[in-house]
Amino acid sequence: QNKDIATPIRTREILEKYGFSFKKSLGQNFLIDPNILNNIVSHAGLTKNDNAIEVGPGIGALTEHLARASKKVMAFELDQRLLPILADTLSPYDNVRIIHQDILEADVKEMMKETFGEGEEAMVVANLPYYVTTPIILKMLHDHLPIKGLVVMLQKEVAERIAAKPGTKEYGSLSIAIQYFTNAEVVMIVPKTVFMPQPNVDSAVIRLLRREKPAVEVENEAFFFTVTRSSFAQRRKTILNNLTSQLPEGKAKKEEIIASLEQAGIEPTRRGETLSLEEFGRLADALLPHFH
Ligand code: SAM
Repeated sequence: QNKDIATPIRTREILEKYGFSFKKSLGQNFLIDPNILNNIVSHAGLTKNDNAIEVGPGIGALTEHLARASKKVMAFELDQRLLPILADTLSPYDNVRIIHQDILEADVKEMMKETFGEGEEAMVVANLPYYVTTPIILKMLHDHLPIKGLVVMLQKEVAERIAAKPGTKEYGSLSIAIQYFTNAEVVMIVPKTVFMPQPNVDSAVIRLLRREKPAVEVENEAFFFTVTRSSFAQRRKTILNNLTSQLPEGKAKKEEIIASLEQAGIEPTRRGETLSLEEFGRLADALLPHFH
């Protein structure tokens, strides 16, 4: 087996060899602890029959662990300066494809077909750039890609909001947008010391396993997300007040909103943070005829 990229000594050697300087604006905090990488990969449950997608390979610390554990790795890296470094550090592996592209602009579905073959699934495993964690996760889920799930490092505070249960202060529209498609679980809390340079915030690894079908069945998915976002617009307001102020022509349709809440069995004085996904599903379906 090759010497790990993710030791402090080897990482420093590589950075010096290429005169690489970190770009804070790209969320560049590289992992320098092989144990953490082993743990991340084992939480992903990869076998040699599985494909992996990585976002932001950096100098290849996680990429090489994915190459060892899986069939094929496809990694999207935005920073052009890292391409020659990756070509060097990952030269021992013949099952890695690096794509120089902004993940948010990539046609991931097409790239998956091209890289892994028609009908092949993959697991997303990454130490995400923290300035864009939620857009990346939402893109991966809402684009209906053939992915089994995501195991990703991100800010601890965001991980907790994603996995939050109803009735907690972390629970909100982000929890719902993600739990609608996946079972979410925080699997590791990670100290700052495993990164170079160390980030300003605490980190965690979250595992999101795609559900066979969404957590609730709703008539109109887009409207369901509109209702959940509207319900949390101002956290201290009641669900009724949020919906009347946020939904299109909500003020004029207050009576219809009250009737829909009643139909869904939800007290108008409750706050959004107390509603389960099922309750939001019933509410969205009850409201739908009045707003379409
Ligand atoms: N995987 C490496 C590791 O764990 O050491 C690096 C992780 S670092 C937190 C995030 C990486 O994402 C950086 O290499 C950065 O250049 C890259 N990146 C930032 N924004 C990106 C984007 N929009 N698309 C693809 N890669 C991006």
